[in-house]
Amino acid sequence: MDGMNLRHLTDKVLLLDTKHLVAREREITLKLLHHLKEIERRRLFSDLGYGSLFEYIVKELGYSEPAASRRLHATRLLKDLPHIEKKIADGSLSLTNLSLAGQLFKNEDIQDPQEKKEILEKIENTTKRECEKELKKLVHSDLHVMKLSLKEETLNLFQEIRGVLAHKRFTNDEVMHEIFKIALPIIKNKKFKLNAKFTTPAALPSITRKIPNIIKKEVYERDGGRCTKCQSTFKLEYDHIKPFAMGGESTLANLRLLCFSCNQRRLKEL
Ligand SMILES: [Zn+2]
Repeated sequence: MDGMNLRHLTDKVLLLDTKHLVAREREITLKLLHHLKEIERRRLFSDLGYGSLFEYIVKELGYSEPAASRRLHATRLLKDLPHIEKKIADGSLSLTNLSLAGQLFKNEDIQDPQEKKEILEKIENTTKRECEKELKKLVHSDLHVMKLSLKEETLNLFQEIRGVLAHKRFTNDEVMHEIFKIALPIIKNKKFKLNAKFTTPAALPSITRKIPNIIKKEVYERDGGRCTKCQSTFKLEYDHIKPFAMGGESTLANLRLLCFSCNQRRLKEL
């Protein structure tokens, strides 16, 4: 393209042109956000076989995931807070900062438009670093940040659950809470046989290393689901007080809960 050779331009024109291009770039970005908003409203991404607007932006439009995420957050904010249009156009609110704010609103479950507006005012004309610092002040101190490395399959399972719960507008914390609340009793039942039904004594051979389910359940309940030495709930095991090898039976009286480390310590003592 001829226009790409700029050597003939005077310094003044070059600088002026650059400013003009930046303004046009912002104008185009804003137009793009409006287009994305309308595509989402019509759910056209779905017609094209994409599960979400985000997927459409990445796979159809070719943006990187972080770039897509910035555009998606900005699109959502523009929908909720139309007044930010001017601020995107004049550059006082960058896509990066909008995206950081959008993540905060989601994670902290901030839904009130007035509250959002006030927060956005604080991050106008700030660098990314200044913006992060400002937003950090608003993060509730009772939230813990946990970095997880997940395989795609695991991540997909999480996304699927999030999709099922989407209508509730849950934060990530609430999604995790729901999963754990449902999973914990199931996992506990499986390990400690808390669903075991009483069986007749004849069906309970005590001369076996394998502990009958009903005994597992009774030991667990008697010991309150904790290590009987240190009260830990981590990595619990059933311990034969008189070792099985020395004739100790798998009975309620001869069994107790020990955590892995207390059990290891005890095995060394034997
Ligand atoms: Zn212990």
